[in-house]
Amino acid sequence: MVISNWNDIDLTEVKGLLLDLDDTLYHYEPVHKRAFDACAQVAETNYQIPKDKFKSLWKIARDKVHTDVHGQGASHSRLLYLQKLYELYSGKTNAEFALEMEELYWTVFLNEMSFRNGVEAFLQKAKERGIKMAIVTDLTAQIQLQKWQKLELHRYIDFMISSEEAGIEKPAPYIFELALQKLQLQTNEVVMIGDNATKDIAGAQALQIKAYQVNEKTE
Ligand SMILES: [Mg+2]
Repeated sequence: MVISNWNDIDLTEVKGLLLDLDDTLYHYEPVHKRAFDACAQVAETNYQIPKDKFKSLWKIARDKVHTDVHGQGASHSRLLYLQKLYELYSGKTNAEFALEMEELYWTVFLNEMSFRNGVEAFLQKAKERGIKMAIVTDLTAQIQLQKWQKLELHRYIDFMISSEEAGIEKPAPYIFELALQKLQLQTNEVVMIGDNATKDIAGAQALQIKAYQVNEKTE
């Protein structure tokens, strides 16, 4: 069910929430764009890679990494994208480029990130009801824990479950099962909230977990 308002989520008798992070608790695209543009600028200034070239190579590198490590947290690794991007550009690895750019990307990204409208009030309401909460998210633990710190999720959320930790990405059942283990709850006691119809919604529903889908307009 797609919801237009966070208050549309029925918390009656709910003991636990499984929450996607990216594009659910905050809007990904504007934050990514700021981080990406900062990298493209430095690539042009310091490494003489024209911005349009950086943009086209990023897409090729990202698609290659997605294919190579499909279904694992590292498939979203900006470090791997950037390593591959430079290799495509010059035919060699450039460790300095990859590491510097990755740090820049996430520094800008984390700096720009904030809760989308309606999320904090909803999390507060759930917390006041004594509902336990877990983030169930695809990506590496290091960056997802940094996002946790930036949003100060400890104020509301009890556990993080990343696909790196689970060894597999949503919609695989195991990542949801790991979340239920940590929360010590059963499938009929929790609801899943996420933006992705396949990963979040179908993934949860395959385990008979009730799921709510948010979109970019949900507030
Ligand atoms: Mg998402």
